[in-house]
Amino acid sequence: MRLGSLEGGGTKMVLAIGDENGHIEEQVSIPTVTPEETIPKMVDYFRDKGIEALGIVTFGPIDVKKDSPTWGYVLDTPKLAWAHCNFAGPFRKALGVPVGFDTDVNGSCLGEVTYGAAKGLDSVLYFTIGTGVGGGIFVNGKLLHGMLHPEAGHILLVKNPKDLGGSVCPFHDNCFEGLCSGPSIEKRWGAKAKDLAGRDEVWELEADYIAQALVDEAMTLSPQRIILGGGVMHQTQLFPLIRAKFAAYMNGYIKTPELADLDHYIVPASLHDDQGIMGGLRLAQLAYEENVS
Ligand code: ADP
Ligand code: ZN
Repeated sequence: MRLGSLEGGGTKMVLAIGDENGHIEEQVSIPTVTPEETIPKMVDYFRDKGIEALGIVTFGPIDVKKDSPTWGYVLDTPKLAWAHCNFAGPFRKALGVPVGFDTDVNGSCLGEVTYGAAKGLDSVLYFTIGTGVGGGIFVNGKLLHGMLHPEAGHILLVKNPKDLGGSVCPFHDNCFEGLCSGPSIEKRWGAKAKDLAGRDEVWELEADYIAQALVDEAMTLSPQRIILGGGVMHQTQLFPLIRAKFAAYMNGYIKTPELADLDHYIVPASLHDDQGIMGGLRLAQLAYEENVS
Protein backbone atom coordinates (compact mmCIF):
# COMPACT_ATOMS: atom_id res chain seq x y z
CA MET A 1 0.00 0.00 0.00
CA ARG A 2 1.41 3.39 -1.01
CA LEU A 3 1.16 5.89 1.81
CA GLY A 4 2.27 9.46 2.45
CA SER A 5 3.65 10.81 5.71
CA LEU A 6 4.36 14.36 6.83
CA GLU A 7 6.15 15.34 10.04
CA GLY A 8 5.74 19.02 10.83
CA GLY A 9 8.44 20.77 12.86
CA GLY A 10 9.23 24.35 13.78
CA THR A 11 12.22 24.55 11.46
CA LYS A 12 11.51 21.89 8.85
CA MET A 13 8.79 19.73 7.39
CA VAL A 14 9.70 16.14 6.51
CA LEU A 15 7.70 14.53 3.71
CA ALA A 16 7.88 10.86 2.81
CA ILE A 17 6.35 8.14 0.68
CA GLY A 18 6.33 4.66 2.09
CA ASP A 19 4.21 1.65 2.92
CA GLU A 20 2.35 -0.02 5.78
CA ASN A 21 5.46 -1.98 6.78
CA GLY A 22 7.19 1.26 7.71
CA HIS A 23 9.42 1.10 4.65
CA ILE A 24 10.32 4.61 3.48
CA GLU A 25 10.80 4.81 -0.27
CA GLU A 26 11.67 8.48 -0.55
CA GLN A 27 11.97 11.36 1.87
CA VAL A 28 12.59 15.09 1.51
CA SER A 29 12.53 18.04 3.85
CA ILE A 30 11.61 21.66 3.24
CA PRO A 31 11.95 24.66 5.55
CA THR A 32 8.97 25.67 7.67
CA VAL A 33 8.08 29.21 6.61
CA THR A 34 4.42 30.26 6.65
CA PRO A 35 1.32 28.15 5.97
CA GLU A 36 0.59 30.24 2.85
CA GLU A 37 3.98 29.41 1.42
CA THR A 38 4.74 25.98 2.85
CA ILE A 39 1.41 24.11 2.65
CA PRO A 40 0.96 24.46 -1.15
CA LYS A 41 4.54 23.23 -1.66
CA MET A 42 3.85 20.18 0.49
CA VAL A 43 0.55 19.47 -1.27
CA ASP A 44 2.41 19.62 -4.58
CA TYR A 45 4.95 17.09 -3.33
CA PHE A 46 2.23 14.52 -2.64
CA ARG A 47 0.26 15.20 -5.82
CA ASP A 48 0.69 12.51 -8.50
CA LYS A 49 2.54 10.21 -6.08
CA GLY A 50 -0.34 7.75 -6.11
CA ILE A 51 -0.76 7.59 -2.33
CA GLU A 52 -3.89 5.99 -0.91
CA ALA A 53 -3.81 7.90 2.38
CA LEU A 54 -1.72 10.48 4.22
CA GLY A 55 -0.67 10.74 7.88
CA ILE A 56 0.26 14.17 9.24
CA VAL A 57 2.02 14.43 12.61
CA THR A 58 2.95 17.90 13.73
CA PHE A 59 3.81 20.40 16.46
CA GLY A 60 0.77 21.62 18.31
CA PRO A 61 -1.46 22.31 19.95
CA ILE A 62 -3.73 21.07 17.19
CA ASP A 63 -7.37 20.05 16.80
CA VAL A 64 -7.44 16.25 16.51
CA LYS A 65 -11.17 15.80 17.21
CA LYS A 66 -12.59 14.13 14.15
CA ASP A 67 -16.08 15.65 14.51
CA SER A 68 -14.85 19.19 15.17
CA PRO A 69 -15.45 21.92 12.58
CA THR A 70 -11.81 22.90 13.06
CA TRP A 71 -10.38 19.36 12.81
CA GLY A 72 -6.94 19.59 11.23
CA TYR A 73 -6.28 23.14 12.42
CA VAL A 74 -3.33 24.35 14.42
CA LEU A 75 -4.61 26.06 17.59
CA ASP A 76 -2.87 28.76 19.64
CA THR A 77 0.84 28.19 19.19
CA PRO A 78 3.97 30.21 19.87
CA LYS A 79 4.76 29.66 16.17
CA LEU A 80 2.51 32.62 15.43
CA ALA A 81 2.36 32.35 11.63
CA TRP A 82 0.81 28.89 12.06
CA ALA A 83 -1.73 29.72 14.77
CA HIS A 84 -5.30 29.00 13.67
CA CYS A 85 -4.30 27.78 10.21
CA ASN A 86 -6.03 24.87 8.51
CA PHE A 87 -3.10 22.45 8.23
CA ALA A 88 -4.67 19.13 7.22
CA GLY A 89 -7.72 20.35 5.25
CA PRO A 90 -5.87 21.48 2.10
CA PHE A 91 -4.29 18.01 1.75
CA ARG A 92 -7.60 16.21 2.07
CA LYS A 93 -9.18 18.55 -0.48
CA ALA A 94 -6.37 18.54 -3.04
CA LEU A 95 -5.38 14.87 -2.80
CA GLY A 96 -8.83 13.36 -2.23
CA VAL A 97 -7.49 10.67 0.11
CA PRO A 98 -8.11 9.95 3.82
CA VAL A 99 -5.87 12.03 6.06
CA GLY A 100 -4.86 11.16 9.63
CA PHE A 101 -3.80 14.05 11.86
CA ASP A 102 -2.08 13.92 15.23
CA THR A 103 0.71 15.42 17.30
CA ASP A 104 4.35 14.79 16.44
CA VAL A 105 4.85 12.93 19.72
CA ASN A 106 1.74 10.80 19.36
CA GLY A 107 3.14 10.03 15.89
CA SER A 108 6.49 8.98 17.32
CA CYS A 109 4.77 6.86 19.94
CA LEU A 110 2.73 5.16 17.21
CA GLY A 111 5.90 4.58 15.18
CA GLU A 112 7.61 2.86 18.10
CA VAL A 113 4.50 0.83 18.93
CA THR A 114 4.07 -0.35 15.35
CA TYR A 115 7.63 -0.83 14.16
CA GLY A 116 10.05 -0.25 17.04
CA ALA A 117 10.89 -0.62 20.71
CA ALA A 118 7.29 -1.08 21.84
CA LYS A 119 6.08 -3.41 19.08
CA GLY A 120 3.13 -5.48 20.21
CA LEU A 121 2.46 -3.58 23.45
CA ASP A 122 -0.85 -1.86 23.99
CA SER A 123 -0.02 0.87 26.49
CA VAL A 124 3.11 2.91 25.87
CA LEU A 125 4.48 6.33 26.75
CA TYR A 126 6.88 8.24 24.50
CA PHE A 127 8.70 11.42 25.50
CA THR A 128 10.88 13.58 23.35
CA ILE A 129 13.34 15.76 25.23
CA GLY A 130 14.82 18.23 22.77
CA THR A 131 14.13 21.88 21.96
CA GLY A 132 10.86 21.24 23.76
CA VAL A 133 9.50 18.33 25.77
CA GLY A 134 6.44 16.46 24.56
CA GLY A 135 4.68 13.24 25.42
CA GLY A 136 2.91 10.80 23.11
CA ILE A 137 0.56 8.33 24.75
CA PHE A 138 -0.86 5.08 23.42
CA VAL A 139 -3.34 3.42 25.81
CA ASN A 140 -5.36 0.25 25.36
CA GLY A 141 -4.36 0.09 21.70
CA LYS A 142 -5.14 3.70 20.75
CA LEU A 143 -3.46 7.08 20.77
CA LEU A 144 -4.83 9.13 23.63
CA HIS A 145 -7.02 12.13 22.87
CA GLY A 146 -9.50 13.80 25.16
CA MET A 147 -10.44 17.43 25.48
CA LEU A 148 -7.40 18.02 23.25
CA HIS A 149 -4.39 15.71 23.25
CA PRO A 150 -1.76 15.07 25.90
CA GLU A 151 0.50 18.03 26.69
CA ALA A 152 2.68 15.98 28.98
CA GLY A 153 5.69 18.24 28.49
CA HIS A 154 3.96 20.70 30.79
CA ILE A 155 3.29 18.49 33.81
CA LEU A 156 4.57 20.17 36.95
CA LEU A 157 7.61 18.91 38.83
CA VAL A 158 8.99 19.60 42.27
CA LYS A 159 11.84 22.00 41.74
CA ASN A 160 15.18 21.24 43.33
CA PRO A 161 15.88 24.08 45.80
CA LYS A 162 19.47 24.25 44.60
CA ASP A 163 18.33 24.73 40.98
CA LEU A 164 18.57 28.45 40.42
CA GLY A 165 18.42 28.12 36.64
CA GLY A 166 14.79 29.07 36.30
CA SER A 167 12.36 27.75 33.76
CA VAL A 168 12.34 28.43 30.03
CA CYS A 169 8.56 27.86 29.78
CA PRO A 170 6.74 31.19 29.53
CA PHE A 171 3.69 29.63 31.21
CA HIS A 172 5.14 27.60 34.09
CA ASP A 173 7.96 28.04 36.60
CA ASN A 174 8.44 24.34 37.17
CA CYS A 175 7.13 22.27 34.28
CA PHE A 176 8.96 19.37 32.62
CA GLU A 177 9.78 21.35 29.46
CA GLY A 178 10.70 24.44 31.44
CA LEU A 179 13.23 22.54 33.54
CA CYS A 180 14.48 19.76 31.23
CA SER A 181 14.51 20.84 27.57
CA GLY A 182 17.81 21.47 25.79
CA PRO A 183 17.36 25.26 26.04
CA SER A 184 16.72 25.01 29.79
CA ILE A 185 19.92 23.00 30.32
CA GLU A 186 21.80 25.60 28.31
CA LYS A 187 20.30 28.50 30.24
CA ARG A 188 21.01 26.88 33.61
CA TRP A 189 24.59 25.84 32.93
CA GLY A 190 25.64 28.46 30.37
CA ALA A 191 26.89 26.06 27.69
CA LYS A 192 25.56 23.89 24.86
CA ALA A 193 24.04 20.69 26.28
CA LYS A 194 26.29 18.50 24.17
CA ASP A 195 29.37 20.30 25.52
CA LEU A 196 28.33 19.49 29.11
CA ALA A 197 28.72 15.73 28.66
CA GLY A 198 31.46 15.45 31.31
CA ARG A 199 29.67 17.49 34.00
CA ASP A 200 28.04 14.91 36.31
CA GLU A 201 25.94 17.46 38.21
CA VAL A 202 24.18 18.47 34.97
CA TRP A 203 22.94 14.95 34.26
CA GLU A 204 22.20 14.13 37.92
CA LEU A 205 19.74 17.01 38.05
CA GLU A 206 18.36 16.30 34.58
CA ALA A 207 17.81 12.62 35.44
CA ASP A 208 16.15 13.56 38.71
CA TYR A 209 13.58 15.75 36.95
CA ILE A 210 12.97 13.21 34.18
CA ALA A 211 12.49 10.43 36.75
CA GLN A 212 9.91 12.50 38.62
CA ALA A 213 7.97 13.00 35.40
CA LEU A 214 8.15 9.32 34.49
CA VAL A 215 6.96 8.16 37.92
CA ASP A 216 3.95 10.48 37.70
CA GLU A 217 3.12 9.22 34.22
CA ALA A 218 3.72 5.57 35.13
CA MET A 219 1.41 5.83 38.13
CA THR A 220 -1.30 7.51 36.05
CA LEU A 221 -1.20 5.70 32.71
CA SER A 222 0.33 2.36 33.64
CA PRO A 223 2.40 2.11 30.46
CA GLN A 224 4.08 -1.23 29.73
CA ARG A 225 7.15 0.59 28.40
CA ILE A 226 8.50 4.15 28.38
CA ILE A 227 10.52 5.35 25.40
CA LEU A 228 12.73 8.44 25.50
CA GLY A 229 13.88 10.24 22.36
CA GLY A 230 15.04 13.72 21.30
CA GLY A 231 18.41 15.47 21.20
CA VAL A 232 19.03 15.60 24.95
CA MET A 233 18.64 11.82 25.22
CA HIS A 234 21.73 11.45 23.05
CA GLN A 235 23.44 11.79 26.44
CA THR A 236 23.07 8.07 27.00
CA GLN A 237 24.57 8.26 30.49
CA LEU A 238 21.14 9.61 31.44
CA PHE A 239 19.46 6.21 31.09
CA PRO A 240 21.02 4.42 34.10
CA LEU A 241 20.66 7.60 36.19
CA ILE A 242 16.97 7.93 35.28
CA ARG A 243 16.30 4.25 36.03
CA ALA A 244 17.96 4.48 39.44
CA LYS A 245 16.06 7.63 40.40
CA PHE A 246 12.82 6.21 39.01
CA ALA A 247 13.26 3.16 41.28
CA ALA A 248 14.03 5.40 44.24
CA TYR A 249 10.91 7.56 43.69
CA MET A 250 8.72 4.47 43.14
CA ASN A 251 10.12 3.15 46.41
CA GLY A 252 8.65 -0.30 45.81
CA TYR A 253 5.07 0.93 45.87
CA ILE A 254 3.96 -1.20 42.94
CA LYS A 255 5.57 -4.44 41.84
CA THR A 256 5.14 -5.59 38.26
CA PRO A 257 7.31 -7.70 35.94
CA GLU A 258 7.97 -4.51 33.92
CA LEU A 259 9.26 -2.59 36.92
CA ALA A 260 11.43 -5.53 37.94
CA ASP A 261 13.40 -5.00 34.73
CA LEU A 262 13.90 -1.26 34.33
CA ASP A 263 16.58 -1.74 31.65
CA HIS A 264 13.76 -2.88 29.36
CA TYR A 265 11.14 -0.55 30.83
CA ILE A 266 12.79 2.83 30.25
CA VAL A 267 14.45 2.60 26.85
CA PRO A 268 15.80 4.82 24.07
CA ALA A 269 13.89 5.48 20.88
CA SER A 270 14.80 2.77 18.40
CA LEU A 271 13.98 4.04 14.92
CA HIS A 272 16.93 6.39 14.30
CA ASP A 273 14.86 9.57 14.42
CA ASP A 274 12.42 8.14 11.84
CA GLN A 275 9.86 7.26 14.55
CA GLY A 276 7.69 10.30 13.70
CA ILE A 277 7.66 9.82 9.96
CA MET A 278 7.09 6.05 10.36
CA GLY A 279 4.26 6.77 12.80
CA GLY A 280 2.80 8.98 10.07
CA LEU A 281 2.72 6.00 7.71
CA ARG A 282 0.81 3.95 10.26
CA LEU A 283 -1.53 6.89 10.90
CA ALA A 284 -2.20 7.06 7.15
CA GLN A 285 -3.02 3.35 7.10
CA LEU A 286 -5.38 3.76 10.06
CA ALA A 287 -7.12 6.70 8.31
CA TYR A 288 -7.53 4.54 5.22
CA GLU A 289 -8.99 1.62 7.20
CA GLU A 290 -11.38 3.90 9.03
CA ASN A 291 -12.55 5.33 5.73
CA VAL A 292 -13.38 1.97 4.15
CA SER A 293 -15.02 0.45 7.22
P1 ADP B 1 13.89 19.28 18.05
O1 ADP B 1 13.42 19.14 19.45
O2 ADP B 1 14.09 20.71 17.66
O3 ADP B 1 13.11 18.50 17.07
P2 ADP B 1 16.16 17.73 18.89
O4 ADP B 1 15.35 16.63 19.43
O5 ADP B 1 17.43 17.37 18.17
O6 ADP B 1 15.35 18.68 17.94
O7 ADP B 1 16.53 18.66 20.11
C1 ADP B 1 17.41 19.73 20.02
C2 ADP B 1 17.87 20.07 21.44
O8 ADP B 1 18.58 18.94 21.95
C3 ADP B 1 18.80 21.25 21.54
O9 ADP B 1 18.33 22.10 22.58
C4 ADP B 1 20.15 20.70 21.91
O10 ADP B 1 20.76 21.43 22.89
C5 ADP B 1 19.84 19.32 22.45
N1 ADP B 1 20.83 18.36 21.96
C6 ADP B 1 21.05 18.00 20.68
N2 ADP B 1 22.05 17.10 20.60
C7 ADP B 1 22.46 16.89 21.88
C8 ADP B 1 23.48 16.07 22.48
N3 ADP B 1 24.27 15.29 21.76
N4 ADP B 1 23.58 16.12 23.82
C9 ADP B 1 22.78 16.90 24.56
N5 ADP B 1 21.84 17.69 24.05
C10 ADP B 1 21.68 17.70 22.73
ZN1 ZN C 1 5.21 24.70 30.72
